[in-house]
Amino acid sequence: MQRMEMQQEARLARAVERIRPSVRWEKPYIVPRDPGPVHIKLNQNENPLDLPESLKRRLIEDFFNVPFNRYPTEQPDRLQAAIGRHTGHDPAGILIGNGSNELTHTLGHGFIERGRQVVLPTPMFSLYSSVVRLFEGVIVPVPPRPDLRFDAPALLEAVRMHRPALTVLTTPNNPTGLSMPIEEIEPIVDAAAESGFVVVDEAYIEFTEEVSVSTLLDRYPHLILLRTLSKAFGLAGLRIGYLMAHPAIIQELLKARLPFMIDRLSESVALALLDDPVLLAERVTAMKTACQHIGRALAAMPGVQVVPSQANFVLFKTDRPGRAVMKQLAEDGILVRDMSGYPELQGYLRVSAGLPEENKAFLMALERSLHAPADLA
Ligand code: PMP
Repeated sequence: MQRMEMQQEARLARAVERIRPSVRWEKPYIVPRDPGPVHIKLNQNENPLDLPESLKRRLIEDFFNVPFNRYPTEQPDRLQAAIGRHTGHDPAGILIGNGSNELTHTLGHGFIERGRQVVLPTPMFSLYSSVVRLFEGVIVPVPPRPDLRFDAPALLEAVRMHRPALTVLTTPNNPTGLSMPIEEIEPIVDAAAESGFVVVDEAYIEFTEEVSVSTLLDRYPHLILLRTLSKAFGLAGLRIGYLMAHPAIIQELLKARLPFMIDRLSESVALALLDDPVLLAERVTAMKTACQHIGRALAAMPGVQVVPSQANFVLFKTDRPGRAVMKQLAEDGILVRDMSGYPELQGYLRVSAGLPEENKAFLMALERSLHAPADLA
């Protein structure tokens, strides 16, 4: 019996070793969960508001008549058309994904070959570096300026020097909340024209005063935009993101794509929300106001440094070690995110804008934790 068990274990070890090294060496994407009860969840840049109950009920009732046994269309054309109206972009140039996360893999399939360079400014949403490694590309990291903004001249230089297959920019950026003006983005797009593609992730575009780079799409066929309905629209649980590019580029990317990625429920909820711009605008205003309030309140606390955010979250650092502060907030049932995994953000925490009472509770708990005796905080 013991021998059989040993044989099985050896077989398992050999099977695991046969998995591609680039997969085995990767870390899975995990959002740390706190073991205690969570009353206030401010750790994933989510919209704190669910859909109004009446709208949710109507959508679920309508959904009762939808056949569960039939496939949806390969690509959700009604949603493509609605996003086309929302963005002013040709629906044939829109590709919808199971969250924009899923589309980053499509970008990997389309653009990243083994050994090709990919320019990634830092710090940046960690999924991008993971995708580059999975597709065996070579990351060219570009560190930020001292104020944590992306270093536009250094990015331009990296693109000219390395001729990357892909360059990724996020504006506003996660985890800093800082935007990159279009005047800084365009020269980078222009310089990349001879070698590869530029992806601009605008997951938080609804919250910034900067303009979208969508106006550049007509001029640069190697420019691609990524957006999501997870943040301003508040549909993180339904998984809808989209990519905008030239229709000819979409036609190619479709070949690298799994069909039927968008289920019927997600499509119908997204359609209802896109049909209600007033609801969207109200929510964006509420989150922007909350974010400004959190930023101001944090800046007024002695020993707290705040990064000025243009998104729905705020990055900050306290005189006390970030992890200890986070732990103490968790004891009060408040979840924020530790950003120490990013080398440039040692000691930093990130808090998403919640409901007014949640933000108030967070700020009060943070103040308490900053005044706690050293051994507690
Ligand atoms: N891009 C950025 C920059 C993000 O911060 C996030 C959310 N963490 C996403 C994309 C993911 O969006 P989605 O929910 O559409 O997969």
